[in-house]
Amino acid sequence: MPLPFSINPALADISVYQPGRPIEEVARELHLPADDIIKLASNENPLGPSPAAMAAIRHAFENINLYPDGSAFYLKQKLADRLGVQPGNLILGNGSNEIIEFVGHALLALDSGKSGGATDKPEVVVSQYCFAVYPLVAKLFDATLATVPAKNYGHDLAAILRAISPRTRVIFVANPNNPTGTAVPAKELEEFVNEVPDRILLVLDEAYIEFLEGAVDFLPLIRAGDKSNLVLMRTFSKIHGLAGLRVGYGIGHPELIAALEKVRQPFNLNSLAQAAAIGALDDSQHVRKTRLNNAAGLEFFAAAFRRLNLEFIPSAANFVLVRVGDGQRIFEQLQTRGIIVRPMGGYHLPEWIRISIGTPPQNERCLGALQAALDK
Ligand code: PMP
Repeated sequence: MPLPFSINPALADISVYQPGRPIEEVARELHLPADDIIKLASNENPLGPSPAAMAAIRHAFENINLYPDGSAFYLKQKLADRLGVQPGNLILGNGSNEIIEFVGHALLALDSGKSGGATDKPEVVVSQYCFAVYPLVAKLFDATLATVPAKNYGHDLAAILRAISPRTRVIFVANPNNPTGTAVPAKELEEFVNEVPDRILLVLDEAYIEFLEGAVDFLPLIRAGDKSNLVLMRTFSKIHGLAGLRVGYGIGHPELIAALEKVRQPFNLNSLAQAAAIGALDDSQHVRKTRLNNAAGLEFFAAAFRRLNLEFIPSAANFVLVRVGDGQRIFEQLQTRGIIVRPMGGYHLPEWIRISIGTPPQNERCLGALQAALDK
C-alpha cells in the first residue's frame, strides 16, 4: 500500500547501506555457536578495544543517568592537544559516517527547494570504488554524483581534478581507500590538496591513516589556518578498536567547523563513547600492538595469495581485497565455515572479497577456509 503522504523523492534512488554481517545474525541463521564465528568483514580491530578505554568506560558507567557533555569538552581538549590544533578545529561525530552527513547538510542542502533541473544541482565528485557512504549521502541531498574511473583500483587524482565542474561543491577522497586498500603516492596527494579550488570542500578521509607508513601530515595546513576548504576525517573505530561506540571526528578550519557544529545534534556522542575515546588516546601501547599485528597479517595474506596465485591489491590499510572468482559464492562458503568476510558485488567487484586482518589464528583459519572453498 502506498504511504498516504509524500516522501522525499531523493530516497527512491537510495538502497540501504549493507554493513558487514553481525556474528549473532550469522550464528542464528546457520545454527552455529557464536563463539566459533570470526568476523573479518568490517575492518574492526581484532585485538579488541583498548584496555584503557574499557577502564574509562567502567568509571563513566556510574553516571549514565545524566546526559553526556554535549560539547564533549574533555575529549575535544585532549584530541586538540594530541593533534596540536585548537578545539575549534574539531567536530565530533557518531562515527565519522556522521561527519559525512554533516558535510551534506552544510554544503549540499544549499539550494534545496529551489533547484530546478539536474543542471542546477550541486555536484559531488568521488572515485570509482569509493567508500559507499559518500554516494549515499550525495543522493540523500539530491546532489549529482560524478564518479571518476579508478586507476589500478586506486584514485586517479589528476582525473578527479579534471572532473571538477562549476557545480562541484564537495570532493571525497579516502586515503588509504576502502574497499581497495590503495594509497596514493604522498607527493601526488600533497599536490592534489593544493590544487583543489578554494570554492570546493575536499573531505580527506583518513579512517585508516594510522596503518599507512609514510603518510603525509596535513595538520600543519589546518594549524596555519589559511586553508578553509580541507577537512580531515578520522575515527576511533579502527586502530583504537571502538567501532561499537561510534566516535569519529573532523579536523578543519574553525569557520567550517562552526558551520558543521550547527548541524550536529547536541548529544551525538554518548558519555561512554566520550570516556572510552579519552582513555584510548592514552593507550599508545594498544595502537602499537594493533599496527604490528596488522602489518604481520597483511604480509601473511600477501604471501599466501602469491602462493595460491590469487590476484590481490597490495593494501595500506587493515584489510585486503582478493580476487576469488565468484565472490558471493566464496563469501557464502566461508560463512558456512564460520568466517564472515565481505562480498564486493555492491561495489561492482563481484569477483572479489574483502578480508579484514585478524589475529594470527584468525588469519590462519580464514586462509584454510578460503582454500577449501576455492577447491570446492
Ligand atoms: N570512512 C571510511 C573510508 C571507512 O571505511 C569507514 C568505516 N567503514 C568510515 C569512514 C566510517 O567509520 P566510522 O563511522 O566507524 O567512524
